[in-house]
Amino acid sequence: MRQMPWFGMDIGGTLVKLVYFEPTDNTPDDEKNETETVKIIRHYLKSRSAYGKTGKRDVHLQMECSIKNRRGILHFVRFPTSEMPVFISLARSKGIAQLASTVCATGGGAYKFEKQFSEELNLTLKKFDELASLIHGIHFIERYNPQECFYLQNPMEDEKFRKIPFDFSDSYPFLVVNIGSGVSILAVYSQDKYKRVSGTSLGGGTFVGLCCLLTGCETFEDAIALASSGDSNKVDKLVRDIYGGDYPKFGLTGDTIACSFGHMISKEKRDKVSKADLARATLVTITNNIGSIARMCAVNEGIERVVFTGNFLRVNQISMRLLAYAMDFWSGGTLKALFLEHEGYFGAVGCLLELV
Ligand code: ADP
Repeated sequence: MRQMPWFGMDIGGTLVKLVYFEPTDNTPDDEKNETETVKIIRHYLKSRSAYGKTGKRDVHLQMECSIKNRRGILHFVRFPTSEMPVFISLARSKGIAQLASTVCATGGGAYKFEKQFSEELNLTLKKFDELASLIHGIHFIERYNPQECFYLQNPMEDEKFRKIPFDFSDSYPFLVVNIGSGVSILAVYSQDKYKRVSGTSLGGGTFVGLCCLLTGCETFEDAIALASSGDSNKVDKLVRDIYGGDYPKFGLTGDTIACSFGHMISKEKRDKVSKADLARATLVTITNNIGSIARMCAVNEGIERVVFTGNFLRVNQISMRLLAYAMDFWSGGTLKALFLEHEGYFGAVGCLLELV
């Protein structure tokens, strides 16, 4: 294999996640052998944090680590999967085709785009399973970054809620709830022993899709910004809207949601809701549904720690706080919601590790 930058790629339903390992312990010999193309690619990736209109490098996530006895820095880049043709022509213009090499890839797009990579970039995709890569990536990053895993204290109190580091070193068994376009739920018993226990098609993509329909917004970031200023109680029917107060026999307080979007059957209420209220209700509905399925899976599997990952949680404190609260409250304090700083990048990391 000709010299190729160390990449791992996760080509998902919505976003491509590209992880790039930059060795920092090069010997003079390594430097002499480095091809021009590799230098050009490194310079291009490192000299900016935005690529075109939609590509982004998450500079705050970059981290030092060792891979295959090499010290270096991991860089994290993402762009929409819909921009794949732009990415391919950019990679061509940087001379990737001359390397005639192999890149490790995971996610559905590793299959969908395989032919294009081969024909247009002269690149062979070495394909890896996305859930195996996800678990591999979680184990690796968590080992290097003591601050990786955290939970939320007082999640429902605006002033008092805090991110607290969680020691994940003795973590088995745990559940992984990966919220991407859709949702996969895995039970993990050891480094190599895990199974997919459930999933739901109502995921991050559903949130964005419904928000676009209901509010006319165009992007995930806009949908989250709208949701931040909205009030879902104007959209959802609560227990108190039906009972006039609590339903104490089964411990349901008046502010529990009884029917998501339940107010929207009334024209009068529909006329009063704002786009922000609708975005918030959509976010709350999707998040609570995922929380509820995750909780059932945890109970079924007899697992107490639930790790939420995936890019749905990017810049999305509302959902993290809701999940943290819901896990704790509905389990009577036995379940703990955990989160990871590198959110949606674990599949790409796990896949990069397969290269070596
Ligand atoms: P996938 O592998 O299915 O693409 P991800 O883990 O990358 O899954 O998560 C995709 C989800 O992340 C989207 O459905 C959306 O809810 C959310 N998301 C976060 N940031 C963005 C973004 N910049 N563009 C689109 N979706 C985003």
